[in-house]
Amino acid sequence: MGKRGRVGVWIIIAVVAGVGLLGIGLRKTTGEAVGAVSRAETIGLTMGTVARVVVDAPEADGAVAQVMQELDRLSVLFDRFRPFGDVAALNASRGEWVTLSPEVLALLQEAVRLAEVSGGAFDPTVAPLIDLWGFVEEGTHAHDDEPGAGDDGAAHDTPDEVSNAAAPTTSNTSSSPTRLVGVEPPDPAALAAALELVDYRTIEIDAAHGRARLGILGQAVDLGAVAKGYGVDRAAELLRARGAVRGLVDLGGDIYALGTRVDGAPWRLGIRHPRKSGQLLGILHVSDAAVATSGDYERYFEYQGVRYSHIVDPKTGWPANELVSVTIVAPSGVWADALATAVFVLGKEKGLALIEALPGVDGILVDRDLGVTVSSGLHGRVDLMEGV
Ligand code: ADP
Ligand code: MG
Repeated sequence: MGKRGRVGVWIIIAVVAGVGLLGIGLRKTTGEAVGAVSRAETIGLTMGTVARVVVDAPEADGAVAQVMQELDRLSVLFDRFRPFGDVAALNASRGEWVTLSPEVLALLQEAVRLAEVSGGAFDPTVAPLIDLWGFVEEGTHAHDDEPGAGDDGAAHDTPDEVSNAAAPTTSNTSSSPTRLVGVEPPDPAALAAALELVDYRTIEIDAAHGRARLGILGQAVDLGAVAKGYGVDRAAELLRARGAVRGLVDLGGDIYALGTRVDGAPWRLGIRHPRKSGQLLGILHVSDAAVATSGDYERYFEYQGVRYSHIVDPKTGWPANELVSVTIVAPSGVWADALATAVFVLGKEKGLALIEALPGVDGILVDRDLGVTVSSGLHGRVDLMEGV
């Protein structure tokens, strides 16, 4: 699976996948091993996206295999379309208490907390709106073709698989977005009805008994907006526990950068230009931090010349459109993931105010005119490309 004995100088450039960032490593091989530590790398499909894991660790091959297995487990655990799954049970419970597995309960609790922190801009109960708008990928709806499932470790091994996995993602850098179910804005009455169901404050969590319930009939939660963030956090945790000295975990744009590059400098992550296919907006320098990007260029449809993209404002029910890309740096993947979505909804002014108010959280915001705003904590840690 991995290539042993490689000490690389890593430059993470552009990217491409699901939400905007996918590190692609350029290797310069020196052929030297660092003590008992070796490097392993894998790329494969899991959690509905292209995952890439690179690590320098003792038993590096085993470490990346374990991470991929863990991500496959999580992609099933949090899937709201899985029949008899925890989230499906909660959504079908008609106001009854539902016992949830500890991880699902904990992520739900964290999602509610992030909804509070963002004043409801991020809301885990937006599912009915998402379904109504059709911001669901064709072929992944209603558990008929769950991405990642059945994609076992062996599928990540060969170079052929690597290029196959990367190909469809790379093509997404063009103007064609992920194929969605939705083709036009919904009927206003249906939209108003769905909006009635959106309110995270009605979620009750009884942590002592490991259960939760929803307060409105027909309400539904979706942890999909934070599941990949949780995935990179778990991956980083596993890698640390296995003694990894450095690593990168990239789940289609939700990234955790563990440690530093071999030369001790921070990892360099390319931020995809939201409008110029295949080009970078800038390079972010990070170490021991999570990074997530929400953009309007992957999941959207166009109707009568207007772009409708997959992040909706829970207050209006309409897709947010003040910003075209938001990259968040945060201590955890869950926070980065949720806050990228929240800031996308909040827009430049309110979004920046939220970022600045949260310790350890930073961001890069791109508005509709392609103006770039960088939060104060990132000055000196981001190189913007000329002429962007
Ligand atoms: P992606 O799904 O492309 O990785 P994000 O991490 O930005 O993108 O999450 C967007 C997903 O979150 C949407 O596909 C949708 O299911 C859900 N979502 C959309 N708007 C909101 C919102 N305001 N709050 C919480 N979840 C949202
Ligand atoms: Mg997100």
